[in-house]
Amino acid sequence: MSMTDTRLCEMTIHELRDLLKAKQVSAVEIARSFIDRIEAVESRIKAFVTVTPELALEQAAIVDESIERGDDIGPLAGIPVAIKDNMCTRGTLTTCSSKILYNFKPIYDATVVDKLVRAGAVTIGKTNLDEFAMGSSTENSGFFVTHNPWNLDTVPGGSSGGSAAAVAADECAFALGSDTGGSIRQPASFCGVVGMKPTYGRVSRYGLVAFASSLDQIGPLTKDVTDCAIVMNAICGKDPLDSTSLDVPVPDFMKALVSDVRNLKIGVPKEFFGHGTDPEVESAVRAAIDLLVSLGAEAKEISMPSVDYGLPVYYIIAPAECSSNLARYDGVRYGHRTGTSTSPIFAKGGVSSNLPLTKGGVGGVVSLYQKTREEGFGPEVKQRIMIGTYALSAGYYDAYYLKAQKVRTLLRRDFEKAFEEFDVLITPTSPTVAFAIGERVDDPFAMKLADICTIPANLAGIPGISIPCGFKDGLPIGLQIMAKGLNEETLIRVAYTYEQHSGHHKEKPGI
Ligand code: GLN
Repeated sequence: MSMTDTRLCEMTIHELRDLLKAKQVSAVEIARSFIDRIEAVESRIKAFVTVTPELALEQAAIVDESIERGDDIGPLAGIPVAIKDNMCTRGTLTTCSSKILYNFKPIYDATVVDKLVRAGAVTIGKTNLDEFAMGSSTENSGFFVTHNPWNLDTVPGGSSGGSAAAVAADECAFALGSDTGGSIRQPASFCGVVGMKPTYGRVSRYGLVAFASSLDQIGPLTKDVTDCAIVMNAICGKDPLDSTSLDVPVPDFMKALVSDVRNLKIGVPKEFFGHGTDPEVESAVRAAIDLLVSLGAEAKEISMPSVDYGLPVYYIIAPAECSSNLARYDGVRYGHRTGTSTSPIFAKGGVSSNLPLTKGGVGGVVSLYQKTREEGFGPEVKQRIMIGTYALSAGYYDAYYLKAQKVRTLLRRDFEKAFEEFDVLITPTSPTVAFAIGERVDDPFAMKLADICTIPANLAGIPGISIPCGFKDGLPIGLQIMAKGLNEETLIRVAYTYEQHSGHHKEKPGI
């Protein structure tokens, strides 16, 4: 048993690994601690769409056998991970929190899942998200809302809200999320954990259900920066199954865990502090910058004018790509098919009369597609498909999609210019702390403002990290650090330095 007072489920990956290596605990004991924790708090948090305790215990037992044999185990062996439910897991439901995939069990693992399982990680469940990762609060989940462990009446952020809440509530040691416009960083910020969106192409997206393919990226949500480096080491790298994954060497991110920011040049872009930034968020972020300056960094305010167009550009490009990616859900190959799904989740909308695929005539098939999609997709997803289809249609393509792509290039150039002078850019992750459940559901503009600081990094393809930097009314504030493409090591070094001198990562919600 553990020699420490802290419960196993509260520990970081590196603490658990040390105990495992020293044979002070077994992987099965670790898995049990997390399973017990899920049983104790999950009815209040609702972070998981699916929990897989039997699988976790089986995987943990294999790790224990391997330790028993004297094998040299890697840093993730025996460590429980939660996976966002838009990443394919062989034989385990992968729903994207959408009714249209309510019964979908993939026949293969996403590359990231495969890598983690091969590294001995223990998969404890699949986490809730805004349907198909479209949203900022998990309130767009087709199933239920996840609650923020710091205050159950507030949202955990989104779309990887389940992953962030599960990490914050100690229901897993770490989680994977996906980030198309901020979906790792913003929930990390709301839940007081560390969340990294790597450079576009750094991590394979094979088996990640596509939302907006030129923006999507997978990354870790962890309890501290050291754990972030450990997970990055395990998931990055070229994958022949994802042609957009980058064929570049993967550094040892652990070597970046150095507390030193002397001569670091920090740019502070003023555009990220407008648009309803909470004064307390701003002062926490500025205090963090001051701390780094006191440790030898230099900071300077800059302007990046095209950043103001980030949100409108994103809301053309992301829906355009989603309208194309989501065309595959037609009731023919997988998921919900109108008239055949017996699950009670379809009872309310009234399942249409039976329309078997074999029914002849174009009308039959078209109507099958229409009814399946009408019943299977939620309102946000439908709205985005319509906006995207409109923006791509003949006559509007030039005015919307092409224009948005041009502005995207300007934004990318603003970043390139900034990185000629600065090593990192520091901003709030989100203009506010977590908001109340229900508060923004009828105000799409307010909802979308939650991502105003995170979207630019996706449009530019650069990496960003969110780390805790303080609290407002008991709710965590997130600090975002961005760097040039492939410079995740700089992010890790700066984030680690800040963490070592601030200690915010040690605070836990009292759930
Ligand atoms: N909240 C943004 C959206 O709704 C970003 C989502 C994401 O990164 N997946 O599209």
